[in-house]
This record gives sequence, structure tokens and C-alpha cells, in this order.
Amino acid sequence: MSAETVFAAELPWPDYDAKVRDGSVPILVPIGSMEQHGCHMPMHVDVLLPVEFARRVADVVGALVAPPFTYGYKSHQKSGGGNHLPGTTSLDGATLVSALRDVIKEFARHGVRKICLVNGHFENSWFIVEGIDLALRELRWGGIDDMKIVVLSYWDFVDKATIARLYPNGFAGWDIEHGGVLETSLMLALYPHLVNLNRAVDHLPASFPPYDVYPPKPEWTPKSGTLSSPKEASKEKGEILLDVCVSGIVDALKTEF
Ligand SMILES: [Zn+2]
Repeated sequence: MSAETVFAAELPWPDYDAKVRDGSVPILVPIGSMEQHGCHMPMHVDVLLPVEFARRVADVVGALVAPPFTYGYKSHQKSGGGNHLPGTTSLDGATLVSALRDVIKEFARHGVRKICLVNGHFENSWFIVEGIDLALRELRWGGIDDMKIVVLSYWDFVDKATIARLYPNGFAGWDIEHGGVLETSLMLALYPHLVNLNRAVDHLPASFPPYDVYPPKPEWTPKSGTLSSPKEASKEKGEILLDVCVSGIVDALKTEF
């Protein structure tokens, strides 16, 4: 193994300890899900993408990447097709919050004082915030008050100019991007062997009424499981997205850390 890995868990403990003990090296924690992503992509898209963003960012800013969270909060029908779909395997909110709180406190015990949670699954968002809040509160009770945590979702770094380039026919919004142009393009740029565009289903963007129903009505979700068509996805669009998001996240971490 090369000495230059950015993956924390690949290090023997004395090397990890030497890097993190003084608190100067940030830890990036990718957070994903196991969730269906249409007929043309695997179910760990939301893990693969934040891990790769974290790896690229860590290389530039001198951070370490923690093992990812590979399960996330339940898929919502209007942003991920719904938690009723086969394959999608989710945690209860309280489980995710507790696991995040525990991991943050463990890194704090090692000496880490800068953490960035790199989210790849929209539905995790508020549970991540709760995990951070509980961890910081308990750390304060324990006398640790110099911990700083950044939380971000990579798609928030895609600016308006990039959206106009990627969606020349109009952008329907991040909420119905699930399995669409954004994720499929990134997967084509990074893991083309895991994408089968021949199986991608071209359909109109999903449209939902302004309310939710539980249990969900399966007929609201397009049969493929995607919420917008991936047909316009391309490797080139994926490379544009990679550049924009990596440089945006690097800038954010240089500002905050
Ligand atoms: Zn996804």
C-alpha cells in the first residue's frame, strides 16, 4: 500500500493517530444510502459519488476520508421514488442520527477538530444536522468546545451557469433529479462500467400534487424508479459537474478550515 492514501481506514493506527491527534487534519465523512436508482444504475450511487468527491477534495486540502455511511434515511417518494421500492434499504431517522453522533464523538476522542459531512442522499439532510447538534452538545458537556463541522451536499455547488449548460431545455429542480441527468452523468464519468444506458427509461419529469400520502401511492412514481429522464446524461456533463463541485467544495473547506 502506498503511504499516500487519503482513506483513514487504510492506515495502521499509529499513522492515523500521528495525523489526527493535534486536530489540524480534517476528516471528510461521506454519507449515502442503499436506494434504487432506476433500471440503468446500481443501488449504491449515493455512496460512490460522495466518496469520490471526498477523495478528490481530500487530496487537495490535505484531509482524510472516513469510511462512508452506506445506509441512509428513508427514500421519499418526491425525491427518491419512495421507500416502498424493491432494493431500497433504509435506516430509521433515530438510527442514523445516533450513528452519526457516535462517529463524530469518536473522531473527537481521537483529536479531530474539523469534520466535513459530505452528503450524497437528499433525505439524509436534516438527520445529519441533528446528529451534528447532539454530538456537539455532548462534546461541550465533556469540555470539548473547539470542534467545527461543515455539512454539505455536493449538488448545491452546481451554479446557475452550469445548470444552463447541462439542461439546455430547462431544469426541473434537484428534487426530481433522482436517477436523472446529474447522477447518471457523474456515474458515466466515474464508473461507466456500472451504467447501462440501454436500460435507461425516457419519461417526462415526475409531477406530484402539493401534499404527501402514507402509505405512498406507487402509481405516483414512474415505473423505472427515476424521477426524471437520464437520456440526456453524458460523460462530458459528468466531468463538468465533477470540476464544478470539487472546486466549490475545496473553496468551502479552505474558507471554513
Ligand atoms: Zn441518488
